[in-house]
Amino acid sequence: MDIKHGFVGTVGNTPLIRLNSFSEATGCEILGKAEFLNPGGSVKDRAALYIIKDAEERGLLAPGGTVVEGTAGNTGIGLVHICNAKGYRCLIVIPETQSQEKMDLLRTLGAEVRTVPAVPYRDPNNYVKVSGRWAEEMDNAIWANQFDNLANRRAHYETTGPEIWSETDGTIDAWVASTGTGGTYAGAAMFFKEKNPNIHCVVADPMGSGLYSYAKTGKISTEGKSITEGIGNSRITANMEGAPIDDAIQIDDPEALRMIYQLLYKDGLFMGGSVGINVGAAVALAKQMGPGHTIVTVLCDSGSRYQSRIYSRPWLEQKGLWSDDLLPR
Ligand code: PMP
Repeated sequence: MDIKHGFVGTVGNTPLIRLNSFSEATGCEILGKAEFLNPGGSVKDRAALYIIKDAEERGLLAPGGTVVEGTAGNTGIGLVHICNAKGYRCLIVIPETQSQEKMDLLRTLGAEVRTVPAVPYRDPNNYVKVSGRWAEEMDNAIWANQFDNLANRRAHYETTGPEIWSETDGTIDAWVASTGTGGTYAGAAMFFKEKNPNIHCVVADPMGSGLYSYAKTGKISTEGKSITEGIGNSRITANMEGAPIDDAIQIDDPEALRMIYQLLYKDGLFMGGSVGINVGAAVALAKQMGPGHTIVTVLCDSGSRYQSRIYSRPWLEQKGLWSDDLLPR
């Protein structure tokens, strides 16, 4: 018998998918870890589960307790599913500028959603800081604190990395992934380097994020901007601290869009925007390294979360990013 134990037992062990059109074009094996197949629909289910398990193990969270986080995205979705499955309340703090769909989705899933004015991180009323304070003031509550809570990258060190290692029989030559908190990139990169220090670990970065300049010069510069949601950072989080970075590749929005539309129309994979940055960087890396290499990246979430944006022609036209080249050929 092979039966998964509820939602929690279904997180992880996602398939590794050969991205055929890109592999054939480059002569490399370009492989995507299918994180969109996690039960909550994204790579963040792994971090959410580890953060909650870690708090339970440390005695910080008991039945009937509350998990608090400042997030508008996949982490909130992962947390609320796990809270439902384990009998916790979930309180999500989000800036009032976030889309109505996201707030509605979190409420539908069962989270208590509180909106706060959208102010920068340095302001004490920033949503991340508000969520931290609320968690502190409540009994039997934890602050998930995904950016700086190392249980996040431990999820990837203990699960994502080892899964990819065994799925590729240890033949992986390069690991390339974008970073939000950095948990996915750093956790897997640390595992790979322990197995084989020659595995090339490369950060994929959207325009306007500081990791690319940090990898190239040691300084953070955040010039430019991107429509990609869920990734990019202007600081080195605790999860990124000490992570091996051999190189970084910057991918702009038009290139990322070409990638996800090709994935859709040539490979049949309907992917979110950060996947465009990841696959764009994997293809660039394949060109740098030459044919015959095995390059692994992440398929973070599905395109269905972005239908009104990156898959809407009028939305892209308004941003000046539509091109007929995106259509199937
Ligand atoms: N892609 C998407 C769509 C995400 O929501 C996130 C997490 N914010 C990431 C990539 C990056 O994952 P991590 O936080 O592990 O760096």
